[in-house]
This record gives sequence, C-alpha cells and structure tokens, in this order.
Amino acid sequence: EWLRRPATRAVFAALRAGGAEARAVGGAVRNALMGVPVKDVDIATTASPEEVMRLAARAGLHSVPTGIEHGTVTVIADKVPFEVTTLRRDIETFGRHARVTFTTDWREDAMRRDFTINALYCDLDGTVHDPLGGLGDLEVQRVRFIGDARARIREDFLRILRFFRFMAQYGDADLPDPEGLAAVRAEKAGLAQLSGERIRAELFLLLAAPGAVPALRLMRDAGFIAPLIGVDGNVETVARLAAIERHLSRSPDPVLRLAALSAGTQENLRERLKLSGLEAEGLATALRGAPALDPRRDELAAKEYIYRNGAAAFTGGALVDWARSNADVDDAARTERASLAERWSAPKLPVRGADVIALGVPAGPGVGRVMEAFEMWWIAADFPTEPKRIAAQLAELARGERRAR
Ligand code: ATP
Ligand code: MG
Repeated sequence: EWLRRPATRAVFAALRAGGAEARAVGGAVRNALMGVPVKDVDIATTASPEEVMRLAARAGLHSVPTGIEHGTVTVIADKVPFEVTTLRRDIETFGRHARVTFTTDWREDAMRRDFTINALYCDLDGTVHDPLGGLGDLEVQRVRFIGDARARIREDFLRILRFFRFMAQYGDADLPDPEGLAAVRAEKAGLAQLSGERIRAELFLLLAAPGAVPALRLMRDAGFIAPLIGVDGNVETVARLAAIERHLSRSPDPVLRLAALSAGTQENLRERLKLSGLEAEGLATALRGAPALDPRRDELAAKEYIYRNGAAAFTGGALVDWARSNADVDDAARTERASLAERWSAPKLPVRGADVIALGVPAGPGVGRVMEAFEMWWIAADFPTEPKRIAAQLAELARGERRAR
C-alpha cells in the first residue's frame, strides 16, 4: 500500500525519468515486511545529490539539500518529505564522521548500514533486494550487526543502543544474537562518549516499544541501565521492570516508563538525557504520583484531582506510583482510572472576576474570596453547567460579600 501512494510514486518517477535507480530502504521496508505501519519512506538512489535535485526540479517537486555532504536530499511530494540518499561507501570508517564516497553498488551501500534487517531494499513494484541476509534475520526476529560487531560499534557507539532498541521494537530480546550481545558488552564504556540527545532519541524509542521490558531486562543483566539513567541497585531495577510490565504494559508513554524505572533523580535525568521542558515537566508530574483515589468509590474527589492537576497527572501519576511501589492493584482499578479520564474532561471554571465585580463587589480581595467560595461550591456540586444555577449561586455569594463589608 505504501508503495502505491501517489507521493511515493512521484518521487520514484522523478528519479527514474533521469535513468537513475531508486529503492526504498531501511525502516519502511523492514516495517512493511513485518506488518508494522510505515511512517516515512527513505529512498536510496544511484543518482548523485546534485542529480537528485535537478531531477526533482524537472518533475516539479521541491527539494532541500538537508545533508548534501552525506548525500541526502529531502524531496517533497504532496507535502510529504522523502529523504533521498545517494548510495554510499565508507572509506575511512569513523562511523558518523566517516568520510563517505558515492557509489552505484547496492551491496556497498548495504555494508555501511548497522543491522541486516535495516539493509533491505525494495523496488517500486515490491521486489525486495536482500544483499546481506536481512530477510532470514527478520523471520527469526534477530537483530544482527553487519560485519564485525565490535568494529561496527567502535565506529559509532550509538549502535549499542540501537541494538537494544530494534530488539525492543521488532526482535526477541529473550533470544539475542550472541555475537552482538557479547560485542555490546565488550564496548560498553563507549556509551560515555554519546551525547544526551542521541541517547534520549534511541532510549525513548526503546521505552515506547512493545518489547521494552524484555530488552531492558537484557540491558540490566549486561549492566547498561545504571550508566544510562543513573539508577543503581540491581535488585530494585528488577522489581521496577516487573512493575512496568504489570502496570504500564498498556501505557507506552516513554516518559511514564522512564519515571517508573528511575529512582526519583529527575534533575539528574533531565540533564543527562537533555529532556525538553515538556518532557521534564511530564517526568516531574509522573514522579509526584497521584493520590490513591478509586473513581468507583470517590468519583467527585477524582474529578477534583483531574480539574486541579490534569488528566495526565491523574492517570500517569497513579500508574507510576503503582509501578514504583509495585502496589497490589487490580485491573479494574486501572481501567476505572483510564475510563474516567477518557469519558470526563474537566470544564473550565464558568465565572470570572469581572462577573463578580459586575455584581457590585468592589475590585480587591473580596473578589478573590467570592471566586474561591464559588469554586468550592461548583466542585462540590459536581461541576454544574446550567447558567441559571451558576448565576444564582454567584449572586448569593456576592451579596454575602457585600454585606460582610
Ligand atoms: P525508524 O522506523 O525508527 O525510523 P529506521 O530503520 O528508519 O527506523 P533510522 O534511524 O531512520 O532508522 O535510519 C534509517 C536507516 O539508516 C537505518 O535503517 C539504517 O540502515 C541506517 N542507519 C541509521 N543510523 C545508523 C547508524 N548509527 N549506523 C549505521 N546505519 C544507520
Ligand atoms: Mg527512519
């Protein structure tokens, strides 16, 4: 289906019109073969970056030289961006800083990629090209390095994390490739050379993946959790992973899972993983937890909590609380929380200070007192919306305030 999208066809047609070969590569092919939805389509081509730009222009497509020194041009069709990269070969292998030279040899291009499952290519007609045995590995869910694993890791230590990340997404972390596992263990110290941004990107993909917990278990066994997120205590980590499995298996939010896994060192994590402000806030909220309100018994208090703190704090905070304490929570309680947050969204307070002033209360602290009293009544009355009822209550509170003066 993804190959039949008009935008995809337009980019392929543009490249082919100039006599260049083009194939989809990487994530799109891998996901399509696994039945996972395809997000973005990366394209590899024999055309040089300059040719790609020329051919795109000739076909009326916009293109941007996003990484032209690495051979990448972004071609936009129907507002969809495609990364079109010229086939490359590493000449001096320093990984990401490798000096690359362009080639027209598909196998050479495949050799510089990280894993066999990421070195699958696909023609527009759906023919799959598999120069390095990626199909066989995909079938048995094996994440296998291309070439000598240790040497490939030393070129780019991010491949350590990508090894675990792809296992969490597509592989079987209970049956890791022994050579790959031995290699990442041996090169563990290289993690220290990675920037927080690069770690975060891979770690979040890993945390959000269906197989996150088995992959994290494998990482813990190999001693990777402590250097990455600064939690120690192997026993504690074991319990946290079990708790994530139990309480967060249906909540793939990486921030929640990170909160459940961490030992409450949020400042530390924010710095280490270069979290965005929003993520740091989410992490802090999750770590703060939420009161153990059961909406089945105490719906109004639960609503008040959502009104004051937001639905995310209500559901996420509780999940993280439960995970961190490995509480004995039954499924119904979990479901109830999620269902309340889903079916009910907190309304905005229906009155403003100006409404109080209009009722004859002079601007000043009296307005605040009336507003506060109104809010208390409004929450206790289960957030009524009828304008008449609201107006009557506000008028009465304003009258009381005027009299008290
Ligand atoms: P996703 O679906 O998460 O985007 P992806 O396989 O497309 O997965 P990307 O990080 O987008 O992953 O990279 C695209 C392709 O580029 C990979 O499939 C792989 O072939 C190659 N690649 C990316 N990063 C590296 C790396 N660090 N070392 C070697 N090859 C890499
Ligand atoms: Mg990709």
